[in-house]
Amino acid sequence: MQNILERLKFGEILFCDGAMGTSLQARGLQPGSCPELWCIERADDVRDIHRRYRQAGSDIVECNSFGGTRYKLKHYGMDGRVGEINHAAAAIAREVAGEDQYVLGSVGPTGEFLAPLGPETEEDFYEAFGEQIVALEAGGADAVIVETMTALEEASAAVRAAKEKTKLVVMASFTFDPQTWGGYASIMGVTPEKFAEAVIAAGADIIGANCGTGPDHMIEIIKLLRAAAPDAPIIAMPNAGMPVIENGQTVFKETPEAMASKAPLLVEAGANIIGGCCGTGPAHIAAMKEAVRVCD
Ligand SMILES: [Zn+2]
Repeated sequence: MQNILERLKFGEILFCDGAMGTSLQARGLQPGSCPELWCIERADDVRDIHRRYRQAGSDIVECNSFGGTRYKLKHYGMDGRVGEINHAAAAIAREVAGEDQYVLGSVGPTGEFLAPLGPETEEDFYEAFGEQIVALEAGGADAVIVETMTALEEASAAVRAAKEKTKLVVMASFTFDPQTWGGYASIMGVTPEKFAEAVIAAGADIIGANCGTGPDHMIEIIKLLRAAAPDAPIIAMPNAGMPVIENGQTVFKETPEAMASKAPLLVEAGANIIGGCCGTGPAHIAAMKEAVRVCD
């Protein structure tokens, strides 16, 4: 199979999959329980979620490993199982992906702060991310995405660990929110421009944005990333619209058809890989893929 970067270089648009958390919740994941443990205890469900995205036409299978650092697993007393859980997450995805889809390890934030805001050092983060990403590679991942990040030092530590400890293709993706001044920034105040510069310097092969907003804002964010990094491949993973609170639950209501109508605009803005974050499912991916294919 050709390397992801090679395919992007020839102008191909690739499709990632949609939300994992939303799919797990639909299958009974309880609030306060560990999503990644499903790679061990509910492996058939995780496999089935991957299969549905594969049938929807995704080229990339993203692992159920978002909270797989020792920091996150510690909340469940499982910080000693980083290797086992991440290896299983990648191995399950590989089973479904076969040799014609890519396996993408998911690496989310630690939830901790660096000094002076917290007790952690950049070296601590580097080691923790390295531990997770090495296990994802051993389990069969082709690439890794450091995603839903909001702090530059944390994202950079993860990107460096991935580049220095593995041979994986490395993606870095931030969550940006619309600001009152009209632009976009992460909750830590990082703009798309600053993000692009820092993670490319840290070694990221692909940059992008996920979560936080639906496709409308995402189109604007991708334009900013494209202007800041003319040569970098870009991944865009919008939510299914902005979150709405219904009966005390956060829901995302943008339909597959509505997202599909905006997918060609994401490509026009500069996206090379399109997927979905919160609230998206196989129908959203299939509809966006079809819309982009028709425009081709
Ligand atoms: Zn999300």
